[in-house]
Amino acid sequence: MSTFNSNENLWGCNLGNNTIEGVILKSAREPETLFSLQIPTESDLGYEHVLERVKTLLNEMQAAAGYQPARLGLATPGTLVTRTGLLKNTNIACLEGQPLAADLAARLGVQTTVGNDANCLTLGETRLGVVAERFPDAKIVFGILMDRGIGGGLVVNGQIVRGNNGITGEWGHIYLNPAEPHPCFCGKRGCIESILSVPALERFYKEICGTPRPLAEIEDRAEAGDSAARATLQRLTNFFGHALSILVNVLDPDVIVIGGQTSTINRLYTDGPHVIASYVIDHHFETPVVQAKLGDLAVAYGAALLLA
Ligand SMILES: [Zn+2]
Repeated sequence: MSTFNSNENLWGCNLGNNTIEGVILKSAREPETLFSLQIPTESDLGYEHVLERVKTLLNEMQAAAGYQPARLGLATPGTLVTRTGLLKNTNIACLEGQPLAADLAARLGVQTTVGNDANCLTLGETRLGVVAERFPDAKIVFGILMDRGIGGGLVVNGQIVRGNNGITGEWGHIYLNPAEPHPCFCGKRGCIESILSVPALERFYKEICGTPRPLAEIEDRAEAGDSAARATLQRLTNFFGHALSILVNVLDPDVIVIGGQTSTINRLYTDGPHVIASYVIDHHFETPVVQAKLGDLAVAYGAALLLA
């Protein structure tokens, strides 16, 4: 049986709009999960409350491990700007413009490294997940987080690429559809996120047939012949393929891995590659498009690996 060891364990958190997950991994070499816990974020109660929720989670982790870590990796939507130390482009409204890493370090008494959640998903799946298992020779991995928002991350040779402006992989805010009537949280119109996020897909379905339904149910209904559900999934697959073709034409990654709630929709893996092929140059596309395998904890694992 494994025991905690303050010299080698890696601690990671995924701070999302609805939940915060925390994990303790044995080590980067032996990434066995020693502890994991999820609590509600309650982000509608404001920034100070969210800081306190992270502290609550960390207290639980410390109680289990029996020690206080020296460092914590924390994933969240958006980008922490190195020059200013402020978080930008987050869809958790109360965190926008806040010095998140510094405030967490002060409140927790633990040095905190903040990373983008989709970057962490990609890192977690590359080092510990489906890429490590099935495509160990992959050099360029693009990861996509398709959930309440749409994020992306790029890992090259096992390392996150952050970019000159810290926004590498912000695939969700590529301009895709000028006819999209609903603005994105970022202030633009026609972003991939405003078309392919879970709320956007559910809204599209409701606009056709008048009945609100969760995405999982929409998928079931499409199989059963519901025409509005079929139209919703067709729209998903078409825009998904079109949007990814832009990425493939630029980066041509070795593997594309998809996580988040929408990643369970099977058509992304059956129809999706054909749509991508129809838009890429010369229509030749044989890159694996695969589902993430680390589940709800993938992002938290990646956050822990920020410290490795
Ligand atoms: Zn946007």
